[in-house]
Amino acid sequence: MKLQHFINGKLVESTSGRQQDVFNPATGEVSAQVVLASVDEVNAAVAAASAAAPAWAEMAPLKRARILFKFKELIEKNHVALATAITREHGKVLSDAMGEVTRGLEIVEFACGAPQLLKTQFSDNIGGGIDNWQMRQPLGVTVGITPFNFPVMVPLWMAPMALATGNTFILKPSERDPSASLMMADLLTQAGLPPGVFNVVQGDKVAVDALIQHPDVKAVSFVGSTPIAEYIYTEGAKRKGAYPLRVQALGGAKNHLVVMPDANLDQAVDALMGAAYGSAGERCMAISVAVAVGSVADKLVEALIPRVKALKIMNGMESAAEMGPVVTAQHKEKIEGYIQTGVDAGATLLVDGRGHAVAGHEKGYFLGGTLFDHVTSDMVIYKEEIFGPVLAIVRVPDFAAAVELINSHEFGNGVALFTSDGNTAREFSRRIEVGMVGINVPIPVPMAWHSFGGWKRSLFGDTHAYGEEGVRFYTRYKSIMQRWPQTIDKGAEFTMPVSK
Ligand code: NAD
Repeated sequence: MKLQHFINGKLVESTSGRQQDVFNPATGEVSAQVVLASVDEVNAAVAAASAAAPAWAEMAPLKRARILFKFKELIEKNHVALATAITREHGKVLSDAMGEVTRGLEIVEFACGAPQLLKTQFSDNIGGGIDNWQMRQPLGVTVGITPFNFPVMVPLWMAPMALATGNTFILKPSERDPSASLMMADLLTQAGLPPGVFNVVQGDKVAVDALIQHPDVKAVSFVGSTPIAEYIYTEGAKRKGAYPLRVQALGGAKNHLVVMPDANLDQAVDALMGAAYGSAGERCMAISVAVAVGSVADKLVEALIPRVKALKIMNGMESAAEMGPVVTAQHKEKIEGYIQTGVDAGATLLVDGRGHAVAGHEKGYFLGGTLFDHVTSDMVIYKEEIFGPVLAIVRVPDFAAAVELINSHEFGNGVALFTSDGNTAREFSRRIEVGMVGINVPIPVPMAWHSFGGWKRSLFGDTHAYGEEGVRFYTRYKSIMQRWPQTIDKGAEFTMPVSK
């Protein structure tokens, strides 16, 4: 099977002559090929999105919302099919993939409120018979470039917001799990979306570069690793043309979970297991560092070791699975390399996930859960994002040291604190330099009507994704003042106008 582009309402066969294999990570088998766009194919998608933009922007927000409402119903009907496509190409367990689809669906539900979201403020009679109000107008052609780890949810962070606010959209999904992008294009078409309003360009760096350089693209929303996020943000800023490119680029993470001595230890251990090893640690909100404060460290280690060893690791399609494979053979090797780096640097390897075999799936990209103790802030396994099922325990003497450790890290995506003390929680929320904070909540991904985004090198740009920040990102603000001839005084005014 060859996975193609979706441009102007239909599948379009690529003529670029470039393609790459898509794998099932649980079996190691090739499941499809995905085409990789040429610059001409990107230009064709931008042309289709540009042609569709004026009519879509003119359509009443309520009518756009009705199409999104049908899209919501179709996602619900195809929930299992979408989740299955995710598991087959990403590897995460099916129940987790079902959850991913639900979190994406919630953004569609939020975007169905388009008329309310676009409603603005009006000041009657600011003086001299003048009224002042504002509009939020669409930008035109917008682009989403998305990572492999959430092939449904992350595109749905972007596309429903862009469409609801009157923009057209081009999705450049990850080439590692591209099937879901075409399924969503099909559902949007069934929902009644006009051709050209939502397009999918399959591809790699060639497609990304052509999209961010194209003068008709007005905004790019990116989610992926920090080096590429920074690249897109800086290249976007350099783009020449009538309009500066608006960029929102969400990057990588190293998320800490602090366990205070007064925390409920069982709850903290459950939280660490799910947040560190769920989705094989391939979540931007995964916890990869447990910060053990004071006397809690030994008890935490003792409780974690048997749990990590007992993880049920198997093909994600099996209902008993707690953790599936990692996404590719190369990624598996990279994670194994990090584990060796940790050993070489002197961290204590309590559970080694290397060499983990799953019967019947010998060619799958499986790793066992890995647990390190006595990790220090100068070690590579502490500093860098591993994006695998590897949890590092860092021991600190007190709360202040925990806060200082986290605030010194270059990433600031998510963080969690487990405590039973209200004041500690309050202090933590206020002092921590991280975009998303969980108090006794391990993966605090904000709901659709809040907004998602990290601080520091986890986000480049001013606005976070979806929620009200998403509405701001996908619209341009305009202020209007009006008065009518009956209230206009005679004669030119040469002084700065003030309220009369
Ligand atoms: P990635 O950066 O490799 O790829 C993301 C996108 O960029 C893909 O569409 C890919 O095709 C494209 N790309 C890759 N290399 C490129 C290049 N050299 N030039 C231009 N484009 C390029 O990320 P990934 O491995 O797919 O996803 C995992 C990463 O995404 C992790 O770092 C994770 O933390 C991050 N992530 C962050 C968030 C967040 O909200 N902050 C959410 C999910 C994932």
